[in-house]
Amino acid sequence: MSLKNAYLAEIMETVIKRNPAEPEFHQAVKEVLESFEPLVDRHPEFVKAGIFERIVEPERFIMFRVPWVDDNGKVQVNRGFRVQFNSAIGPYKGGLRFHPSVYAGIIKFLGFEQTFKNSLTGLPIGGAKGGSDFDPKGKSDAEVMRFCQSFMTELYRHIGPDTDVPAGDIGVGGREIGFMYGQYKRIKNDFTGVLTGKGLTYGGSLVRTEATGYGLCYFTEEMLNAQGKSFKDSTVVISGSGNVAIYATEKAHQLGAKVVALSDSNGYIYDPEGINLDTVKQIKEVERKRIKEYVNYHPHAEYHEGCSGIWNIKCDIALPCATQNELDGEAAKTLVANGCIAVAEGANMPSTPEAVEVFLSKGVLFGPAKAANAGGVATSALEMCQNSMRYSWTFEEVDAKLKDIMVNIYKNASAAAKEYGHEGNLVVGANIAGFLKVANSMLAQGIAY
Ligand code: NDP
Repeated sequence: MSLKNAYLAEIMETVIKRNPAEPEFHQAVKEVLESFEPLVDRHPEFVKAGIFERIVEPERFIMFRVPWVDDNGKVQVNRGFRVQFNSAIGPYKGGLRFHPSVYAGIIKFLGFEQTFKNSLTGLPIGGAKGGSDFDPKGKSDAEVMRFCQSFMTELYRHIGPDTDVPAGDIGVGGREIGFMYGQYKRIKNDFTGVLTGKGLTYGGSLVRTEATGYGLCYFTEEMLNAQGKSFKDSTVVISGSGNVAIYATEKAHQLGAKVVALSDSNGYIYDPEGINLDTVKQIKEVERKRIKEYVNYHPHAEYHEGCSGIWNIKCDIALPCATQNELDGEAAKTLVANGCIAVAEGANMPSTPEAVEVFLSKGVLFGPAKAANAGGVATSALEMCQNSMRYSWTFEEVDAKLKDIMVNIYKNASAAAKEYGHEGNLVVGANIAGFLKVANSMLAQGIAY
C-alpha cells in the first residue's frame, strides 16, 4: 500500500522533514498513516482537531549523557533517550532498549508504535520508549551496574509511578531493571512501582518474564482458531533467542507445536527433533553465551552462520522475535513458497513493508507487532496494578488475564478491520482500533492554546 490521501501524505512529508535521517520512524509512521485512509472521511472531527498531525509528534523527547567508569578505570560515555510520546489515556509506558544500534529514530519508532499497542491492551497506559546505545554484551556485571546507575541518575527526574513507568526491551532484562530500580530508590527514597519487569522479591509480577512470548502465542492461536486451525502438530520457526523468543518457544511447545529453529545476531540453529528449551535457557539466560553453543549439547542439530537463512526453513508458522526489519520481501516469498500459513510478530516491526505486502497479498494470516506482542506491556500494566494494591496475584490469575487480553486484542483488531472495509487485514485493524481510543481522549482533553 502507498499513501494515496493527499492530507495524510502531507503529514508524512512533515514527519520526514522534522525527523531527518530517521528511516525506522518514517517507516512506522507511514504504515500507520496508510491504515488511517478510511478514517479521514468518516471522522472530520479528528481532522478539525489536528489529531493526525498531533499523534505523530512526541509530547516530549529527552536525550542525555550517560558517563560511567569501566573495569579498567576508563571513563566511557553513552547516550540516553526517553521519548514520552502520548499520555492521552494514561501514564507513559514503554521499555528501555540497550543496544549499539539505538539512536533517536529507533526510540521514536518504538515510542510511536507503543502508543497504539498500549491502547489495544484496553488498559490505561500511554506510549513511551527509551534506551541507550550502550552494549551490555561482553560487559561485567559491575560495568552493567555502573552504567544502569548512571542512566537512572538522569532518568529518575522524568519518570514516576503516575508519570512514566519504563520496563525492559532488547538488552534490558531482570538484571538491568534491578540495578536501575535500586538507583531510583536510593535517589528518591520511594518504594513505588516506577519500573516493571522487577524481580519477584521486590514488586515484580508473576508471568511478566513469560508475558510477551506467551501472549504472542495466545494471539496467534486465536488468529489460527478463527480459521479452524491451531498450533497443534505444526512446525514453527522462531527468530531470536532472547526473552520473547524463549517464552514463545515454551508456549508453542505447550500448545502442541514443534519449534525447530532459533537464532541470534550471529546465526541460527536448526533442530528437526524440536528445540530443547532447557538447553537454550541454560545457554542464554544463565551463561549469557551464543546460540551456536546449542550444537555442543545436541550434535544432531545444525548451526548456520548469518541469521537471515532461518526463513528458508520449511514451517507452518513463523514468529519473528529478534529485531526490526529482520524479515524482508524475499524471505517472505520463501516462507510462502514453503507453505507457511501464519506469521505473527513478537519483535517490533520485524517485517519490512515489502514482506507485509507479500503476506497480505498471499492470504497468509498476519499478526502485526502492535497487536501480537502487546502481552508484555499488558502484563507490565498488571504489575503496576498489583504494586498500587500492594498485593500479588498468582501465576494462574495473571496468566488468565493475559490470555483474555490477547483474545480481546485479536477480536477488536479483527472487528475494526471489518468495520473500516479491510476485513482480515489485522495491520489496518490494529492501527485503527488502537488509534480510536487515543484520538477520542485527545479530543476530549482539548488543545493547550
Ligand atoms: P533480548 O535482548 O532478550 O533478545 C533479543 C534477541 O534478538 C537476541 O537473541 C538477539 O541476539 C537478537 N537480536 C538483536 N538484534 C539483532 C539483529 N540485529 N539481528 C538478529 N538478531 C538480533 O530482547 P527481547 O527478546 O526482549 O526483544 C526482542 C524483540 O521483541 C524486540 O524487537 C523488542 O522490542 C520486542 N519486544 C519485547 C518485549 C519484552 O517484553 N521484552 C515486549 C514487546 C516487544 P544477540 O544476542 O546476538 O544480540
